[in-house]
Amino acid sequence: MIEDILAKSQTAELTFDDMLTLINLTKQSDLDKLYAAAYATKEKHVGKKAYYRGLIEFSNVCVKDCYYCGIRKSSAQERYSMTKDEILEMAIWAYKNNYGSVTIQSGERQDAEYCEFVADIIAEISNATNGKLAMTICLGEQSLAVYQKWFDNGATRYLLRMETTNPALYKKIHPDTPLHSFENRLNCLKVLRQIGYQVGTGVMIGLPGQTPEDMVNDIVFYKQNDVDMIGMGPYVVHKNTPMGQNAPDDTHAQVARFNYGLKMIAITRLHLKDVNIAATTALQALHPLGREMGLKAGANILMPIITLQDYRNKYQLYDNKPCIDDTPEHCKTCLTNRVESVGDVVGFAETGDSVHFLRRKVA
Ligand code: SAM
Repeated sequence: MIEDILAKSQTAELTFDDMLTLINLTKQSDLDKLYAAAYATKEKHVGKKAYYRGLIEFSNVCVKDCYYCGIRKSSAQERYSMTKDEILEMAIWAYKNNYGSVTIQSGERQDAEYCEFVADIIAEISNATNGKLAMTICLGEQSLAVYQKWFDNGATRYLLRMETTNPALYKKIHPDTPLHSFENRLNCLKVLRQIGYQVGTGVMIGLPGQTPEDMVNDIVFYKQNDVDMIGMGPYVVHKNTPMGQNAPDDTHAQVARFNYGLKMIAITRLHLKDVNIAATTALQALHPLGREMGLKAGANILMPIITLQDYRNKYQLYDNKPCIDDTPEHCKTCLTNRVESVGDVVGFAETGDSVHFLRRKVA
């Protein structure tokens, strides 16, 4: 039965029910077959290379109040914002260390000063690296004009997670205000696509109230919206948040979220085939070998944190964030060993564009 579905994934579209069967697998021998099939699909469609996106978390100031997030506006977290020089220093470090790209992330702000600051820093990074360091930005919901300016200044990829593609669940995990609108987020994805970005989205996996059917619908959403990149990972509890205070967080709950995280990567790989899929840091927060297991389940992107050390512990979206005490140098060596341990190689000095994006540009 499982063998039939896995074989079918190579020749025909998986149905909702096929994917539901896969997401509900629990027997280790079945899971091993799922991950092996997803890894073979990755090898066939995007190769066995893992690409690095050096993660720069440049500010934890946020206007949003998402119930699950450790840097939400109402949290007592001490705030920081890096200077342009500090951000540039990290980007140049990534460039010199042959990282093909960086991901620039912060809490969400829409004020003009912030948008100009980001526009300037994108232009400066582009100049300093001769346009050779690809930039993914992950800075939430903005206007068309702002997205356009950031694109024109040199950012070519945008990651905007839907968080969940179920509008009812979205409402439960966000305050009911215009700033937290499901429809606006969806519209932003469409605008990003029109501008010409490589567009990434994703969800949190294992949210309280989320069902296996929701997760399959998330994968259906990725396919229907023809996205180029997926950045999804398990929901990880942050105790000082409204959601974290009530969410189960025993070993059983953590293992379940982690396993759903791996299954989502594998089924997304089988269904979408040529997109970039990240093995996110959240996987490692729940399991010491989380990111390696993500690569084995079909992911091909890693996001080593290159945020300057002084700031790392202030960008805590969830508890037990890994790598807080590490240096960028240590993260590079450590991750490269992890990649090689699963039989992949690191695509050093390559931008690692989404194969799906390159194909749809040609078509
Ligand atoms: N607000 C911006 C946005 O929407 O892209 C920028 C940064 S936001 C902190 C980045 C991502 O962190 C979110 O998309 C969310 O999925 C993830 N995140 C926040 N809290 C989390 C948690 N407790 N567990 C796992 N992921 C979390």
